[in-house]
Amino acid sequence: MTINELSRSFSASINDVLDYATRFQKPYGFIVVVLDHMNEDQNDIANMTSQLYPTLKKNVRVTDTVFRFSQDAWIIWLDDCDDRLLQWTLYTLQSVLHRRDTQIPNHLQDTLMVVRGSCSPTNTLNQTIKAFEHEIQLAKDSLRRLKMMHLTALGSINALSDNPAYSASFIHQTILDNRLFLAFQPVVDSTSRQLGYYECLARILDHNGQILPAGAFISQCEKTGLIPLIDQKVQQLAIEELMNDRHLQLAINVSAITAIDPQWLRTLKVQLTARPDLQGRLMIELTETSVFQNIDESIEFITQLRDLGCPVSIDDFGAGYMSLTHLKSDLVQTVKIDAQFVKDLKPGSHNIPFIRAIKALTQHQGIKCVAEGVEDAQTLAILAQEHIDYLQGYYIDKPSHFRGWT
Ligand code: C2E
Ligand code: MG
Ligand code: MG
Repeated sequence: MTINELSRSFSASINDVLDYATRFQKPYGFIVVVLDHMNEDQNDIANMTSQLYPTLKKNVRVTDTVFRFSQDAWIIWLDDCDDRLLQWTLYTLQSVLHRRDTQIPNHLQDTLMVVRGSCSPTNTLNQTIKAFEHEIQLAKDSLRRLKMMHLTALGSINALSDNPAYSASFIHQTILDNRLFLAFQPVVDSTSRQLGYYECLARILDHNGQILPAGAFISQCEKTGLIPLIDQKVQQLAIEELMNDRHLQLAINVSAITAIDPQWLRTLKVQLTARPDLQGRLMIELTETSVFQNIDESIEFITQLRDLGCPVSIDDFGAGYMSLTHLKSDLVQTVKIDAQFVKDLKPGSHNIPFIRAIKALTQHQGIKCVAEGVEDAQTLAILAQEHIDYLQGYYIDKPSHFRGWT
């Protein structure tokens, strides 16, 4: 898009705010809302589009500007806005757009939109438009990826989205209220049973005082685009734990949607650069199914993690698309064999050859193997006999919010 194609009044107002921001050294930011109108009823789309502007406008400050940038993208311009306010507005909008009581039809709201923020200062109108276009492209990529992920997990997602307890606004509020916390589950050496590290698992305390495990809300958060908020919060909580104990090693799970959101990596970089003593103590677990959808992007992400000194683990190995590229690429330190192959092992179990094959493959590459979902003594004994390096599961210890290391 060129400046001429943009409405004259918008170009003028952007010029004004750019001028103001440069003169008074004020930070500013913008958020994009993208709509995928393919494969949907065009009347539905037209209806939704007409509702979008008032919904956006109602949920930003009066000084913020909302405008339609192209047929399928809106920009919200936030004058005098730092990173915190940008994130706040971003998550407010994400939450509002996916709420059941908005004017946006329910059957369209979850899969059609993604909201994304940026606070990258630019000086000229041309650069600003380029920044819009860049973010819109990223948002469209996320949308495409989300759709792919939804298709693979449609059953459970439908079940969840029928339950208002797991709506995006509920999750959003939970984070704002600090009701998201970590449970820690130890991963132990299979021979010495000594602690290797703890895996951090997200938990939510709901209004009835009930603790929800990650399995109950993570896929819903991936669907609604809230997952980077969860992963961001988990990153912060895990880093706080590491700062309080210099011997501690933790692993956190990161969704593929977060992996393509530069904000999460940016924060991690800032934290680890400021505190070199944290380096090497925060492992990142990436789920095989999500990681392997785009090999190049995931290798790029993993490379950046390695450069930051974060060991990388491929989670749920064997449950998704097997890609040997990652194992070959010398970037991965650990592979976690999916619990379905580990559960209830007996001598002669048909899963044993599979476990051996993974062990042989990873050992050759110098990659450590973890078996997750160890629930009984016999399973544990067989895994130790198969020289699986580390074990994790209820039989060893359940995830708990008590800090086993203090
Ligand atoms: P995961 O990373 O593979 O974590 C293992 C899951 O299995 C956890 O469920 C854990 O509580 C459960 N588990 C551990 N030992 C056993 C066992 O012996 N038997 C059985 N049946 N289950 C066991 P949880 O906490 O509900 O988490 C589910 C998934 O949600 C995780 O699978 C992970 O993929 C995702 N997740 C958890 N926390 C986060 C997070 O902070 N961010 C993101 N993006 N995903 C997360
Ligand atoms: Mg994990
Ligand atoms: Mg797993």
